[in-house]
Amino acid sequence: MPKTLRLILGDQLNSNHSWFKDKNDDTLYLMMEIRQETDYVRHHIQKIVAFFLAMRNFAEFLKQEGHKVLYITLDDLANQQDLVKNLKRIIIEENIELFEYQFPDEYRLDKQLSDFCIESGIQSWAYDTEHFLTKREYLANFFNGKKSYLMESFYREMRKKFNILMDGEAPLTGRWNYDQENRNKLKDPLLLLPAPTYAKDVSQLIHMIQSEGIKTIGKIEPTHFEWPVSREESLKLLEHFCQYLLPHFGKYQDAMYTGDPFLFHSRMSFSLNTKMISPLEIVQKVEKYWLEHQDRINIAQVEGFIRQVIGWREYMRGIYWAKMPEYAQLNYLTHKRKLPDFFWTGRTKMNCMKHAIGQSLEKAYAHHIQRLMVTGNFALLAGIDPDQVDQWYLGVYIDAIEWVEITNTRGMSQFADGGIVGTKPYVCSANYIDKMSDYCSSCQYDKQKKVGDNACPFNTLYWHFYHRNQDKLAKNPRIGMMYRTWEKMNGRKEILDQAEVYLANLEDL
Ligand SMILES: Cc1cc2nc3c(=O)[nH]c(=O)nc-3n(C[C@H](O)[C@H](O)[C@H](O)COP(=O)(O)OP(=O)(O)OC[C@H]3O[C@@H](n4cnc5c(N)ncnc54)[C@H](O)[C@@H]3O)c2cc1C
Ligand code: SF4
Repeated sequence: MPKTLRLILGDQLNSNHSWFKDKNDDTLYLMMEIRQETDYVRHHIQKIVAFFLAMRNFAEFLKQEGHKVLYITLDDLANQQDLVKNLKRIIIEENIELFEYQFPDEYRLDKQLSDFCIESGIQSWAYDTEHFLTKREYLANFFNGKKSYLMESFYREMRKKFNILMDGEAPLTGRWNYDQENRNKLKDPLLLLPAPTYAKDVSQLIHMIQSEGIKTIGKIEPTHFEWPVSREESLKLLEHFCQYLLPHFGKYQDAMYTGDPFLFHSRMSFSLNTKMISPLEIVQKVEKYWLEHQDRINIAQVEGFIRQVIGWREYMRGIYWAKMPEYAQLNYLTHKRKLPDFFWTGRTKMNCMKHAIGQSLEKAYAHHIQRLMVTGNFALLAGIDPDQVDQWYLGVYIDAIEWVEITNTRGMSQFADGGIVGTKPYVCSANYIDKMSDYCSSCQYDKQKKVGDNACPFNTLYWHFYHRNQDKLAKNPRIGMMYRTWEKMNGRKEILDQAEVYLANLEDL
């Protein structure tokens, strides 16, 4: 057996990977904390802490299992803070003859590693991560020759292929999709339950990150860090989700509420994206739990959750590999404005934005509708440069890794891909935000007004967005109605004038 080096990246913490079935003294596992990864955007402090802690726990687990592990900490004096430089050094120092790695999920790392293998000439081999339901190229093949990439047809295929909520070839309950039933506002805060916590003291880790001069955003409670950072904690979180949150998940999936940032969302995204837990085991557990508790959990809750995990998540990954690297440059609506400073501070008079941003900075988390219909919606209506929007999302969220961040942000949220992910832009005025949240009732802006003092900026910018993008959007059959409403609307000039004033003074909103 040649002396082998196996690289494990920070989001490849899959303890069930076939690599770990056998132990071999000639195999050295390598993990590293490097500035290359902490500094490619400015990250939330909780994101860096969570990654390092989860990596350290994983390295410890491998050692306990009897594997040989070399773990390079950020403050190791020999650490060259660059993936390739560290690899070259270890390969020489350890007399490595064979280099093995798992396919990275990010294009930049994939390219960096394949370039390294070619340039160094070392004998090498790349493995699947054994995490996703599909291979990278599956979605592109699935939609080959089709005009559009419809998520729903991909999702149904996943349900069939993995026999999830199925009765033979038909959906188990006779319906594929319960989306229409997942749109309730939270009216009863008594339903809310305290979040499970895995409180840890991370003061030392924060000290190391700060002493090394890494610039971060957001807040952290050093003695009370709550995100799950091991497989055990991820499994506990899943158990908690099934027991307490799943019964309400679908119904309040789109709700927003000032009193609770998490509501009935699972908070599984960090555990999933670092591969501490697999999508298939999550949905199988959720399906089983539902089958055993149908007296208190209805199918709409369960289907809504399963659709996110084996539908949207898997679909986004497929889009990423079908469309990168060009995808990262797309800017269909040619948006160029600068991201307002309040995205970094939360200081804005718009109550919905203040809450969604404030909570993101405090918790490194916002749920899907806050990301899509509040912050993302505002950025799209205001015409912010998608590069800057991407950087904000990539930095601020605990679960942000490019393959799933960029497809959601540039694609679903900013329509910068011109309709690959979504068939129309996700935009809304105060009407929708008020319908789904308690934000508007305590806002300085007036949710009813489009013009005049304190008119809600969303109402004004909404029509400006449609007006200025008429040549690109009016022919879209899903939007035609909006243009007919706009054409008949009174006071169009006043709305457009007010929007121009708002756009010229975004920082003051
Ligand atoms: C603009 C924008 C940016 C986003 N950036 C990210 C990101 O960087 N990383 C990320 O994991 N998700 C991202 N999402 C998707 C979604 O918002 C998060 O996955 C979710 O909020 C994570 O919280 P949760 O685990 O409590 O999710 P839940 O609501 O409990 O959902 C369960 C799981 O379904 C998956 N899921 C749900 N929606 C999506 C989706 N649209 N795409 C992919 N997976 C989904 C996630 O793995 C999630 O953990 C983004 C969405 C938008 C609109
Ligand atoms: S009134 Fe407008 S700005 Fe205020 S919370 Fe509602 S949607 Fe947001």
